[in-house]
Amino acid sequence: MEENKKESALKEAKGHLDAIATGFKYLVDPHRITLDYPAEAIELPKNYRGFFKLQDDKCIGCSLCEMICPSNAIVMTQLPPPPLKSSSQAGTPSPSPAALRPKKRPVIDWGLCIFCYFCVDVCPTEAFETSNIHDLSYFQEGEYRPTFNGFLSLPNSPSGDAKKVVAKTDLKKGIKYEKSDKK
Ligand code: SF4
Ligand code: SF4
Repeated sequence: MEENKKESALKEAKGHLDAIATGFKYLVDPHRITLDYPAEAIELPKNYRGFFKLQDDKCIGCSLCEMICPSNAIVMTQLPPPPLKSSSQAGTPSPSPAALRPKKRPVIDWGLCIFCYFCVDVCPTEAFETSNIHDLSYFQEGEYRPTFNGFLSLPNSPSGDAKKVVAKTDLKKGIKYEKSDKK
């Protein structure tokens, strides 16, 4: 029993030392293949499916995006009607009944979204504006569930200003990164 404990402690210590040695090797190895992220980022295809935003003026509240979403990441929410203008404003036309109806709009949970773009494809009015932004992290529970207003703009990518690179096969390194020709 005591022997087993000793053996597993030695094994654990060896694992730690191996990990430190590997880290050190890649620190000094000139042939390392680590990407200098976020100063460098891989050039993504134009149609890469990243974060998207809702264009409120195009949405007709049909709920198709909610119905098609395979991961229940989209839920329709009812927004309050716009505030009534004061009747003292002479010459202001009264709002139409449609304008006074509460409107339904999609809100998203990025924690559930699998970026399949079914919602983007099904939308009859092309109300979603897409992007290839993909590299975001959230530090607090719930940050990935934006409010309706939060869904009206695209998030900032940490690698937005990065030098774009492409991965090339290299006989010595296995892989190397070269500056992309694309802007
Ligand atoms: S991209 Fe796919 S998973 Fe994400 S909200 Fe749209 S339909 Fe749902
Ligand atoms: S975003 Fe498109 S599919 Fe979703 S409710 Fe609005 S119009 Fe309908």
